[in-house]
Amino acid sequence: MQLKCSFCSTPFSLSKEQVNEALEAFKADKTAHYDAYCPKCRRAIKVTRRHFQMSPIHRRMLNFG
Ligand SMILES: [Zn+2]
Repeated sequence: MQLKCSFCSTPFSLSKEQVNEALEAFKADKTAHYDAYCPKCRRAIKVTRRHFQMSPIHRRMLNFG
């Protein structure tokens, strides 16, 4: 999953493991968020369920995973 740091605008991606971790959090709690850390400035970027819903592949994972 592609993300963009909201502090320094560095694009980075979540690993499969991180995506799975986030999915688990969203399944347990729909309002949960997952903290992804920017590789450049190391600040936490909030990944929400909405990020997953914007991508057809990840939306499917939310519903059927
Ligand atoms: Zn950053």
